[in-house]
Amino acid sequence: MAVICQKDKTMKKLTKAKKEKIKHFLMIAGVASAVSLLALVIFVLVIQRVPIKTTKERKKDSLDYSQIEVEKPDISKKLLTENINSRPGTPLEEIKGIVVHYTANPGTNAKANRNYFESRKDCPDEGQYKVSSHFIIGLQGSIIQCIPENEIAYASNNRNSDTLSIECCHPDDSGKFTDETYQSLVHLVSYLCDKYEIPVSQIIRHYDVTQKECPRYFVKYPEEWEKFHSDVTAYLKKKMVKQ
Ligand SMILES: [Zn+2]
Repeated sequence: MAVICQKDKTMKKLTKAKKEKIKHFLMIAGVASAVSLLALVIFVLVIQRVPIKTTKERKKDSLDYSQIEVEKPDISKKLLTENINSRPGTPLEEIKGIVVHYTANPGTNAKANRNYFESRKDCPDEGQYKVSSHFIIGLQGSIIQCIPENEIAYASNNRNSDTLSIECCHPDDSGKFTDETYQSLVHLVSYLCDKYEIPVSQIIRHYDVTQKECPRYFVKYPEEWEKFHSDVTAYLKKKMVKQ
């Protein structure tokens, strides 16, 4: 009996040790699973965050132009004579953006700047005389078109081949546009964005192409350039057609 009892005791001890072992194992397994689960949750969250961010970015930038109708602003078409320097007649195959400029000629109006481009036709066939722009906005907000939208202008260097250009007149050396010029610019840019489905992010400064200080005021005050983008976006949103 005593032997059996001893055996029982040993068995009991063994079972207890086994139980402890199992308990210990289960505890470790539990902690491991919890850590793995947490890692998995973090991983999924991180993975999900990436597309959410890009979608948000894209949403911010892409307006549904099929739902927007911007009326054409008053544009006075005074096309330049075709010539090697300011209107080469080269087809503009695709329009990916709009480049904003300032004339760098304080106090001059749209017509004077248009005539300056026209006068380039009598200059030699040299790089320094190759200058023009699709549109010019005057000090009172009037818009002159110098080059058809399906031809390139000589305004924005290596972006001449896929952008439309807009020159803006300005009263003084600061390069700041008058309210009238600014409002016409917002209208014209919005109209062109809608017409050619150009994202607002693709409205750029000449500075963004060549680092040239053009348009001066928007280079000096980048926050004003951001405000311009916001004003165009707001204008486009206002022109959303109600369903
Ligand atoms: Zn420029």
